[in-house]
Amino acid sequence: MADVNLVEFERARRVIPGGVNSPVRAFGSVGGTPRFMVSARGPYITDADGREYVDLVASWGPAILGHAHPSVVAAVQEAAARGLSFGASTPAETALAEAVRARVPIVDKLRLVSTGTEATMTAIRLARGFTGRPLLIKFAGHYHGHSDGLLAEAGSGLATLAMPGSAGVTEATAAQTLVLPYNDLPAVRAAFEHHGPDIAAVITEAAAANMGVVPPDPGFNAALVDLAHEYGALVILDEVLTGFRVGPAGFWGLDRSYTPDLLTFGKVIGGGMPLAALGGRAEIMDYLAPSGPVYQAGTLSGNPVAVAAGLATLAAADDAVYARLDETAAIISKAVSDALTNAGVAHRVQRAGNLFSFVFGSFETAPRTYADVLRQEAWRYRPFFHAMLDAGVSLPPSVFEAWFVTAAHDEAAVARILEALPAAARAAAAA
Ligand code: PMP
Repeated sequence: MADVNLVEFERARRVIPGGVNSPVRAFGSVGGTPRFMVSARGPYITDADGREYVDLVASWGPAILGHAHPSVVAAVQEAAARGLSFGASTPAETALAEAVRARVPIVDKLRLVSTGTEATMTAIRLARGFTGRPLLIKFAGHYHGHSDGLLAEAGSGLATLAMPGSAGVTEATAAQTLVLPYNDLPAVRAAFEHHGPDIAAVITEAAAANMGVVPPDPGFNAALVDLAHEYGALVILDEVLTGFRVGPAGFWGLDRSYTPDLLTFGKVIGGGMPLAALGGRAEIMDYLAPSGPVYQAGTLSGNPVAVAAGLATLAAADDAVYARLDETAAIISKAVSDALTNAGVAHRVQRAGNLFSFVFGSFETAPRTYADVLRQEAWRYRPFFHAMLDAGVSLPPSVFEAWFVTAAHDEAAVARILEALPAAARAAAAA
């Protein structure tokens, strides 16, 4: 019998570069045939061959309620029936900005865009326009989307493919980004001492989750804000992945002891539709056109169907949902860890709220930097991943990505994951 996914992959490769529209989907680091998906509901996703998997990718984050949640689908259908796109303002956009401000009160104003990449790209332009300074600090292993200045030593697909950066980025552009080791305040201080008057902003993932999960040291984000402000620079807290996922007010909301100047959101805010945002202090946000001199625009920005999905998702994501996500994450991460231990696989569980991942190998202390996570026995993930996939569990196809649970992962879905673990752990041990 023909392997339907293989047939689809070969067909795709003839007309789509690498057969995919986003690199990690090609299974480059785990090998094998990527699954072509046709539908998803609750905690399950079904491929072109009709095989169902328990999904721990959740569209890389957006699906916190589970796939095709009835209230989100209904909101999208109603919005679509009223018109797909107007190219004009809608009341719903204001409602979404108000909903975000109610959850994250340090966001005075919000601008909607379509992707996380646009959100961070615009936030950086805004920081440069506001401060009149050219340089940006980012951390190695952090991923902020694929705009030119942000691809140096980035996580996500670049970590998966072991790419230090991207061809096509000019040296002049790359030179405007200073890449520093994560969780290393002395390095940040030294950068400010050398380049202080030229640094517009520091951008940081609220908790790094694109090199696997690497949480900030306690107090790191707050110290970063203090240090940047001492030198007149801004802090952009990238909550594209963590925002509205690890808690009602994102990773910032778990602590609230510091005030970044700008925040970026994506994924959950659009409930699975192309929608992202940047927000922050009114004084800075008003630098955006038309009220200010920093230009940004988008034909589909604030698209009514995407906004409807976002509003419905945030409306349904109540405290019970977050409690459930935390509980499910704790159960699954402990079960994986127990299975690996039983199979004799040295590892550590990395967690930031309900986001988690695993590093393979012996680590005396938890990895805190990109260099730390790169030292792991990454090859053990490949057989582990495939054993899980064969048993009907879809994991992120890279050891350098977080695992995502949804509120729809019920006992049956979790049970299927737990059943698959012992064999997968043994496969990892044998690698
Ligand atoms: N920032 C972070 C922290 C992300 O995780 C991502 C995507 N995974 C992005 C930005 C880019 O978002 P998008 O893929 O929507 O462009």
